Amino acid sequence: MAQHFLLSAKARTLSLRSIYAAGEESAYVTFCQLRWPETNGEPVCPECGCADVYRITTRRRFKCAACRVQFSVTSGTIFASRKMAFVDLLAAVAIVANAAKGISALQLARDLDCQHKTAFVLAHKIREALASESDGAMLSGEVEIDGAYFGGHIALRQRQGRTLTFVDTHEPKGVEIARRVVAKGSTIVADEATHWDALPAHYPTQRINHSLAYSLDGVSTNMVESFFSRLRRMVTGQHHHVSARYLGAYAAHAAWLEDHRRLDNGTLSFRALGLAMAHPTSRTWAGYWQRSRA
Ligand SMILES: [Zn+2]
Repeated sequence: MAQHFLLSAKARTLSLRSIYAAGEESAYVTFCQLRWPETNGEPVCPECGCADVYRITTRRRFKCAACRVQFSVTSGTIFASRKMAFVDLLAAVAIVANAAKGISALQLARDLDCQHKTAFVLAHKIREALASESDGAMLSGEVEIDGAYFGGHIALRQRQGRTLTFVDTHEPKGVEIARRVVAKGSTIVADEATHWDALPAHYPTQRINHSLAYSLDGVSTNMVESFFSRLRRMVTGQHHHVSARYLGAYAAHAAWLEDHRRLDNGTLSFRALGLAMAHPTSRTWAGYWQRSRA
């Protein structure tokens, strides 16, 4: 069987210049490879799973020989009913997946030379796909927990593991959240805030009193705090004002970037595209402007 595309040397680097130099057909093939990695880009019917498929090549569509359904590479994914060229969509994914300090819709619209509202929805769809990577994730081992105020926010970060973010206006809710996402037997590290006093009933807990020291005998919440400082730079630098409605999306984007910060830029881009192609059509963002006009 062919090597999975994401593991190939070719997947490690990707520049905007190379995306545009390779062109539309090459971008399309990349979409196929990441939509159908098990068949190395050969189409599989999204309805019945049949691989016996007719090509309607002029329109880049397929028809299933078994159930007769017509589909395209983006049918049923977060990019369903796309209007943008594949080359621009691939560029958008690469920009968002590599935006270490976040990306505003205005900036993305300038980069892609598209309308602001197109860029706004596109960036949110990509963020939704990135966030799905940690759906259902459980943290274990040593876990730092902290809240920071951006209009409400709680983050948990596993050392050598994932960063999970939750938006809640009430920081004491963090204990409830921890009980949902931190495995029993893990150690939680928290600061001196009194609402964390409820943690030791459920987990071995270490506390750090920030009025005395930021790290004492190896006890610190430095990792979760460094995440918050990066999120703060993203919010103030790119988005300026973030409504509570979108805060979760920006925080999840920041967490994804944080957890994968050591990966090559190509690996990040293709990983993001793989998530987008495995993610169902968005309930929030599909037809967003049509609905908001109504
Ligand atoms: Zn079918």
